[in-house]
Amino acid sequence: MRLVMKFGGVSVADGAKFRKVGTIVHKFAGKGDQVAVVTSAMHSVTNTLVDAANQASRKKKDHVRKAAEDLAERHRKAAEEAIRDKAVLAKTLESLNATCEDLKNVLLGIAHIGELTPRSKDYVIGFGERLSAPLLAGVLQDLGMKSAAFTGGEAGIVTDDNVGAAQPLMNVTMLQVRQSLDPLLDEAVIPVISGFIAQTQEGIQTTIGRGGSDFTASVIGASVRSDEVWVWKDVDGLMTANPKMVKDAKMIDSISFAEAMELAHFGAEVVHPKALECAAKYKLPFRIKSVTAPERPGTSIVSEVKVRDGSVVKAITNINDVDLITVSGASMVGTPRLPAKVLQILTDEEIDVLLISQSSSEESITLAIPKEGGSKAQNALELSLLGSKQVREVSMEGGLSIVAVVGAGMRGTPGVAARVFTTMAKEDINIRAIAQGSSELNISFMIRKKDTEKAVRALHDDFKLGG
Ligand code: ASP
Ligand code: MG
Repeated sequence: MRLVMKFGGVSVADGAKFRKVGTIVHKFAGKGDQVAVVTSAMHSVTNTLVDAANQASRKKKDHVRKAAEDLAERHRKAAEEAIRDKAVLAKTLESLNATCEDLKNVLLGIAHIGELTPRSKDYVIGFGERLSAPLLAGVLQDLGMKSAAFTGGEAGIVTDDNVGAAQPLMNVTMLQVRQSLDPLLDEAVIPVISGFIAQTQEGIQTTIGRGGSDFTASVIGASVRSDEVWVWKDVDGLMTANPKMVKDAKMIDSISFAEAMELAHFGAEVVHPKALECAAKYKLPFRIKSVTAPERPGTSIVSEVKVRDGSVVKAITNINDVDLITVSGASMVGTPRLPAKVLQILTDEEIDVLLISQSSSEESITLAIPKEGGSKAQNALELSLLGSKQVREVSMEGGLSIVAVVGAGMRGTPGVAARVFTTMAKEDINIRAIAQGSSELNISFMIRKKDTEKAVRALHDDFKLGG
């Protein structure tokens, strides 16, 4: 098999974990599988870099010098813990030192001028992956494998110049990645590619959005036509509900891209939605595997999953800390453009809308917004709409959460909504707003945050999702 394996920051948080990742790769590569690896930065490093970039823009030279030195020390220590062969270690440290020196100079340069451009910020926050990939390649060599490190750009990923959320240009990318990686894979060399970073056609480094290493794995997988992409995590796989809330939550064997995207939207830690979107487009099967139980099959994410009889619902998920915004006004009736306007205002303010519903009398529009954005959303809507006569009031209520019931089997199965709401009524849980996606893959609703666990457990029981 040809596989792309992606390891996140938690899986490469320290030297021992790098070593563990090395043994996992070794296990599969040793069986004759062709493996390409995509790695994130070590845990929390990207956040440290974002902070260092901001401090640099405030001319805090001492702060950024210390941040750069601490990061260098952390990577050096991890390499010394994970790599035993002296020659391999020396070579790895040499590469890490050179990159850390570059980081320090860049940060001090920014601090000297006190100006952080979007381009220089992107350059700074990509250092985590520029350090973790050579470190991991060193570990693989130490374990007797042939391996070479690449930045996303070196591997052939080309993006537009939309700094911070650059979009890969897939045609060129697929061609270039194949040219650079195919020969290596055929010779059992394991390329270790930095996730998250890429470059423009002019060679300017870009990043593809926070949490973007999953996306890199999809892009690499689509390019080298891998049989599967394996995303390694420290959980067993995707669960029918949060196991911290529901004791008998069970691992899901297989799920469709569409279902996984719904779960990701409603707060489940799955795979980055952009990665799923790309994988769905190129029909690239994904698998979520556990670093603590590598031999288990994990959860497979594929284009279509057969809906088994009786299994209408696949998982229950929830997002805590949501604000409910209600835009109301008697004269909203027959003003079809208002919902679009409301959404446009929120998009302009970069506020995420989790759920929207409009009452059929058109008396009001209800929106669920993550707590951080609640007041900002209310202010923006008031400023733009209150003078317009269509709208009488924009109100906000906090302390809520969203529960979502997800499953492709719900499509065309009547009575699921009734069952959900009967269960809530039995538990005496008051529902504040309801929405169903037109895809019929989910029913989501808002309740008081304090009722969340009770609601999730009751639905998990009622739909018999437990093990
Ligand atoms: N290191 C990047 C981030 O923290 C990308 C990733 O981890 O996927 O956002
Ligand atoms: Mg991630």
